[in-house]
Amino acid sequence: MEDCIFCKIINKEIPSAIIYEDEKVIAFNDINPVAPVHVLVIPKIHISCINDINSENSKYIEQVYIAIAEVAKIVKVDEAGYRVINNCGEDGGQVVNHLHFHLLGGKHLGSKLVQE
Ligand code: AMP
Ligand code: ZN
Repeated sequence: MEDCIFCKIINKEIPSAIIYEDEKVIAFNDINPVAPVHVLVIPKIHISCINDINSENSKYIEQVYIAIAEVAKIVKVDEAGYRVINNCGEDGGQVVNHLHFHLLGGKHLGSKLVQE
């Protein structure tokens, strides 16, 4: 995907603060953090959103979740806890159309899931 900013991060065409990387996944700090820990975990193939997950690309999703657990340990929120968010589509608030999971933590996030 030529114009995808996250594909450019995967290809190292634009810089990012990489926290974790393996064959299928890369994780980097969100450029506009909303919590003390705010890492984006993304598959290294262009999947637009959850709607496009299928049996052919699901190995990447499996690895994303394994990576999230690894990242939580790296940034030291695994014991205190954290929140994982995926925004899908317009109503979901998705801005970047490359599947990504926000890992948020480093403070008590409360129980509210959506804004009023
Ligand atoms: P979403 O609303 O779920 O699509 O979230 C997109 C996220 O990507 C936002 O939290 C942005 O701050 C973040 N973001 C956009 N561009 C970059 C970038 N170049 N490096 C790191 N994070 C980015
Ligand atoms: Zn992409």
